[in-house]
Amino acid sequence: MYWDRDIETMERSALQRLQCERLAATLERAARAPYYRRLLEKTGVADVREPGDISRLPFTTKAELRNEFPYGFLAVPLTDVVRLHSSSGTTGNPTVIYHTKADIIAWQDLVARCMYMAGMRSSDVFQNIMGYGLFTGGLGFHYGAEKLGAMTIPVGPGNSKRQIWFMREFKTTAMHILPSYAMRLATHVKEMGLDPRTDLSVRMAFVGAEPHTEETRRRIEETWNIRAFNSYGLSEMCGPGVAFECPEQSGMHIWEDSFLAEIVEPDTGAPVPDGECGELVLTTLTRTGTPLLRYRTRDLTRIIPGPCPCGRTHRRIDRIRGRSDDMMIINGVNIFPLQVEQTLMRIPGIGSNYLIEIHEENFMDRLHVSVEMAADSFQGTLSQLEGLQSRVLAALRDETGVTPVVKLLEAGSLPAAEGKAVRVVDRRAQSGKGC
Ligand code: ADP
Ligand code: ZN
Repeated sequence: MYWDRDIETMERSALQRLQCERLAATLERAARAPYYRRLLEKTGVADVREPGDISRLPFTTKAELRNEFPYGFLAVPLTDVVRLHSSSGTTGNPTVIYHTKADIIAWQDLVARCMYMAGMRSSDVFQNIMGYGLFTGGLGFHYGAEKLGAMTIPVGPGNSKRQIWFMREFKTTAMHILPSYAMRLATHVKEMGLDPRTDLSVRMAFVGAEPHTEETRRRIEETWNIRAFNSYGLSEMCGPGVAFECPEQSGMHIWEDSFLAEIVEPDTGAPVPDGECGELVLTTLTRTGTPLLRYRTRDLTRIIPGPCPCGRTHRRIDRIRGRSDDMMIINGVNIFPLQVEQTLMRIPGIGSNYLIEIHEENFMDRLHVSVEMAADSFQGTLSQLEGLQSRVLAALRDETGVTPVVKLLEAGSLPAAEGKAVRVVDRRAQSGKGC
C-alpha cells in the first residue's frame, strides 16, 4: 500500500525534525549559488530550529529566476549537472532548473511513490501521453514509472489514432494525460466505433499540469470508467511529484520530506491559517542543483486540515483554484477561469472544451465564452439549442456576476492545443489594458 512506509507515515514530530535537518542542509547548499550567496550574506544564514524559521528569508519569485539567467541559481559545479529543464521563455529570459544525478534519482522516487500510492503496480502497462522534452511532465513520469517497474510506453502527446492503437494492442491500464486531452481522446475513441468504458483496459489516469475542476475529473472518470488522480508539480521544484492524490481522492498529499510548504496571502505575503486559501510557497528540501527557498508558485490552494484516512501523515493541499496571476478583471469584477469551467461542466449537454475571450467594446470589458456542445446535443432543434444557450448564460451570470456573450459550438470546433490547453485569450492586449 505504501511505496515508502517509513517516510509516508512518519509521525508529524519526526517529519518536522527531518524538515529542519534538510532545511539546514539546503540553506548551506543554496549559499553556493551566486544569487543566494549575496542574499544570505545580507540576511545571515537562518539558524533552523523549526521549519517556520524559513519565514525570516524573503521570497524567491520567477522574476529572480529570469533575471539570474543562466547560472545565478546554480549551486553545484556545472560538471555535476546531468540535465536541465527550462520554461519556454516566450516573455523574457527562460527559467532554467539544473538537475544533478542525485536530483534525478530523488525525483523518480517521488513520482514512483505517487503512482504507487494511487494504485499503480509493476504489472500495469503505463502509457505516457505527456510531452517529452523541456516540459517536465513527460520525462518526470517516464522515469517514475520505470522506477516502479511498469512497462512504460513513451508515446507523448497527440496523434489520437496512434494512442488508441497502443491502448488496444498493449492493453494499457494506466495513463498520464492532460485533463483537456483526456476528454478529446475519449471522443476519438468513440468516433472509431469503440466505447472507452468497455472496449479498452485503462483503469486509472494521472491528470495534471493544468488547472481543472472536480467536475472535469468526474467527467473523465465517467467517460472512461476509470479513476483519475490529480497530479501537481512545477518545474521549479522538479516537475510532477510535488503533490498527488491518494485513493481517498480528497486533496493531494504534499511530500513534506522533500518540500516545505507555506500558504500566504498573495498581496501581503503574510501566512494564512490552515484551511484558508492563499498562494502556495515552496522550499526544496533535498534538491542540490537548483535549491530554491520560499519560491512563490502563484498557485492558489489551501491546506486541508486534519489527518487523511489513508494513514499518510503528509498534509494535503486542495485542488489548485487557479493562479494568482490568472485572475480576470472584467469591469472591476474579479473572475477566475476555473469558475467558468466549474459552471459549464455542471450543465448537461455541454462538452468539455471551452474558450474565454475578453474583448473591449465601447470602452467596456466584455466576457465572451465559447463552448462546445456534447456530440449528441448538437442534433437538437433550434429551440432546444436556444434553451441550452440561455441556461449557460444564466448559470455564468449567477456564478460570476457579469453577463457574458455565450456561443455554443459544434463538438471539436475549438482549436485543440497539443500541450496545456489555452483557456483564456485577452483581446484587450492591443489596447494596452491586457493582463
Ligand atoms: P510542468 O512542466 O510540470 O507542467 P510547469 O512549471 O510548466 O511544470 O508548470 C507548472 C504549473 O502548472 C503549476 O505552477 C500550476 O500552475 C500548473 N499545474 C501543474 N499541475 C497542476 C494541477 N494538478 N492542477 C492545477 N494546476 C497545475
Ligand atoms: Zn491520503
